[in-house]
Amino acid sequence: MHKKTDNDCIAALDQGTTSTRCILFGREGLPVVSHSGGPAAHQQEHAQIYPHPGWVEHDANEIWFCAQNVIREAMEKAFSTSSARPAAIGITNQRETVVVWDRKTGEPVYNAIVWQCMRTQDFCAEWSKMKGWEQSAVGCGKAKDKTGLLVNNYFSGTKLRWILENVEGAKDKAHRGNLLFGTIDTWLLWNLTGGVKGGIHATDVTNASRTLLMNIKTLDWDEEMLDFLGIPVSMLPQIEPSSHVYGMTAKTAAFEGGIPVSGILGDQQAALFGQACFDPGMVKNTYGTGLFMLLNTGDVCASSQNGLLTTPAYSLEKGHCVYALEGSVAMGGATVQWLRDNLRMIDSAEDSEYFANKAKDSAGVYFVPAFSGLFAPYWDMSARGAIVGLTRYVRKEQLVYAALESICYQTRDVLEAMQKDSNVHVSEMKVDGGAVANDTLMQMQADIAGSGVVRPMFKETTALGAAYAAGLAVGFWDSLDTLRGLWKKDRTFSPAITPEEREAKYKNWRKAIEKSRGWLEEES
Ligand code: ADP
Repeated sequence: MHKKTDNDCIAALDQGTTSTRCILFGREGLPVVSHSGGPAAHQQEHAQIYPHPGWVEHDANEIWFCAQNVIREAMEKAFSTSSARPAAIGITNQRETVVVWDRKTGEPVYNAIVWQCMRTQDFCAEWSKMKGWEQSAVGCGKAKDKTGLLVNNYFSGTKLRWILENVEGAKDKAHRGNLLFGTIDTWLLWNLTGGVKGGIHATDVTNASRTLLMNIKTLDWDEEMLDFLGIPVSMLPQIEPSSHVYGMTAKTAAFEGGIPVSGILGDQQAALFGQACFDPGMVKNTYGTGLFMLLNTGDVCASSQNGLLTTPAYSLEKGHCVYALEGSVAMGGATVQWLRDNLRMIDSAEDSEYFANKAKDSAGVYFVPAFSGLFAPYWDMSARGAIVGLTRYVRKEQLVYAALESICYQTRDVLEAMQKDSNVHVSEMKVDGGAVANDTLMQMQADIAGSGVVRPMFKETTALGAAYAAGLAVGFWDSLDTLRGLWKKDRTFSPAITPEEREAKYKNWRKAIEKSRGWLEEES
């Protein structure tokens, strides 16, 4: 951490599902030191709105309010004034969440519909069976060819359609050109740059690619997807590179005018960028609530036949991007939370390490946490959780061990799919997220994946990625090479079991997976 003058830093605005944070970074890629000695950062939670079971919304105005507040607080912590002027602002955000607002008043016409929201599930189920749009769970389909994604309620397109179909007057207004659509990055950018008084309406390729509306080959909006969903192109933001001067801030009570907003990346892509995974074959895996693995495939827009998504990793120049394959797993660290909150086996997530170390192994127990089905690479929503291999010997210690192993086996499942799809052998992966503090888990991961697991010194890679993108665009950092040089390793975990042992365990995991699959059909 370094003490800096105000223009010798980049402000990263990290707008997540539950909270918004601002961290100020210096040239070394570390947080600026605040006057109390800690990092110059501030975080604020926002409300989760659940109007019906399975529906999730946020108040977009509250998010904008939090964003202004955290920027101001971070500046005050660093420089004792909110009228500081960082060299640039970078934005990273929860992906896929949808905001629609009135171009003239700046008021959202409905709450932000959050990526987790299931309200369009039935529509997606019908859509994916329609002639011409049929898709298999892990393979092809027209939507996949065009967008790299699956027809699924997770992505923005059908949420936007829902607003146009269900909010009174919205469709008409949209067709008359009076409404604007944005993912959270776009909403924040528009407001930061002046809102109704000339705000910039733009997004970056990584966020645009999560809407089901962008063609991943042309990096532009796809007419056929828009037609099918009934979305007028006039409401869509301009798609720009991730590292690009989008516009200048307008002066508000919270911050100064004239600061370039010059970086935007969706959260998982930001983590890849913050981990300096700039070369094809480099992988990062984030261990938070879920698991999110991205593999840089360079110029190759690899189409997955194994249940992965194809997505732009980042773009540094208009019309060109670096691609990635992405695998997401629903239950990562959340499995540990389940042991803590539902079974009350442990008092804290950290305790999982203590009990796993006491157990030393899982005594043949395999735990498949398919609580809401299985995501990548299986995409089997009929699967449910299973714990198999139980004997009377088994105690809580072995169950905790098996729960941690489940995180590692699911990671290996995604890794195998990535290697098949890309023909790249992954010899090591960079890791981040809350659960990487658990050394035992990291060692298990190296053993089960058979590859090195590399943990960075600085673990807030998402915010750092946004800062990097913003800093590159304004010359605060001069090249990717400079950024490569800033990445510092904390520790590498290397595989310490034999290949035979690894494969025997993995075979059992696959047997356990089969037990969990198709459960709902069998029951009915
Ligand atoms: P998110 O950003 O998704 O909220 P975080 O990156 O903050 O997630 O990580 C929190 C998750 O990591 C929680 O699900 C928690 O159970 C898990 N976790 C945190 N610390 C540990 C630990 N020491 N061992 C295992 N899991 C942990």
